Amino acid sequence: MKIAEELRQAGCPVRENAPMKEYTTFRVGGCADVLVLPETEEQLIAAYRLCVERGIEPFIMGNGSNLLVSDDGLDGVVLRIGPNCSHIESLSETDILCTAGTKLSDLCLFALEHSLTGLEFAYGIPGSVGGAAFMNGGAYGGEMKDVLLWCRHLDQQGNVGTLSGEDLKLSYRHSVYAENGFLITAIAVRLQKGNQETIHAAMRELLQRRVDKQPLDLPSAGSYFKRPVGNFAGALIEQCGLKGFRVGGAEVSEKHAGFIVNRGGATTDDILRLEDAVRQTVLEKTGVCLEREVQYIGRR
Ligand SMILES: Cc1cc2nc3c(=O)[nH]c(=O)nc-3n(C[C@H](O)[C@H](O)[C@H](O)COP(=O)(O)OP(=O)(O)OC[C@H]3O[C@@H](n4cnc5c(N)ncnc54)[C@H](O)[C@@H]3O)c2cc1C
Repeated sequence: MKIAEELRQAGCPVRENAPMKEYTTFRVGGCADVLVLPETEEQLIAAYRLCVERGIEPFIMGNGSNLLVSDDGLDGVVLRIGPNCSHIESLSETDILCTAGTKLSDLCLFALEHSLTGLEFAYGIPGSVGGAAFMNGGAYGGEMKDVLLWCRHLDQQGNVGTLSGEDLKLSYRHSVYAENGFLITAIAVRLQKGNQETIHAAMRELLQRRVDKQPLDLPSAGSYFKRPVGNFAGALIEQCGLKGFRVGGAEVSEKHAGFIVNRGGATTDDILRLEDAVRQTVLEKTGVCLEREVQYIGRR
């Protein structure tokens, strides 16, 4: 593909016919025509602008921990802002800047090293900071909204801009970036000075809770369904006797019914058929219609 060659000439690492199962935590899905793997914010900006100039709208992804890719793959260009595009620095005593591909867990460890509190909730979420800002990721009573100072982005014309405060429109698993389609290149968080031992203890405790409750030994994309108002998807699915229910290689986790896991050899089609069966049963038995939280992308 011509764009792949142009991107390489602009200095960006590119992979053609890239198997997306290697780039998503679910370990399923077909190939992306062109996968761009920038290693710096500059390469990322150059790649995006080149796509804009050629009239191509790339799909933006982070660490692929909330994505379900079609078995038939993806057309066009995928821009992966993952761990190879990672940089963290202190802006002040309490503020930290990092590029969008930085792992959320690495940001938590940096905060710990500097005795900064506020991000303990995020330790163990396997996403990039860009993905976490985009999704307003959260857990254990905390969310990115509590710490995000600003996001730097590229708009659809490739211009650099910054958004902060109310303009980020952060709510449950939502930000303004889901509306405007801009690409987050970097974020800054504001934390508070704390006691390093206390911060470390909280991080360890929350991570242990994940290990105890979640099927972390099997590929998944975390909680598969959104939390219905006043309820929990996992509790409803368990109540319907669906723990361990399988379609092909996809299974409702025995450990946590809110997770669909890849038992080995699952296809995206298996996962979607399991999703349909779960939704149907839960609707019939409880009257609640579950909505997918994981984002499906690719050819249909
Ligand atoms: C085991 C497990 C546990 C999990 N636990 C939690 C949890 O406790 N809380 C929680 O909130 N989530 C959880 N998740 C889900 C997931 O980790 C988060 O939603 C995470 O924030 C997604 O980040 P990502 O970098 O992987 O994004 P991706 O999955 O790659 O992308 C998700 C969305 O973000 C967009 N996006 C990503 N990066 C950018 C960017 N730089 N600019 C613009 N858009 C971008 C993509 O276009 C896509 O729409 C879990 C997942 C797993 C597998």
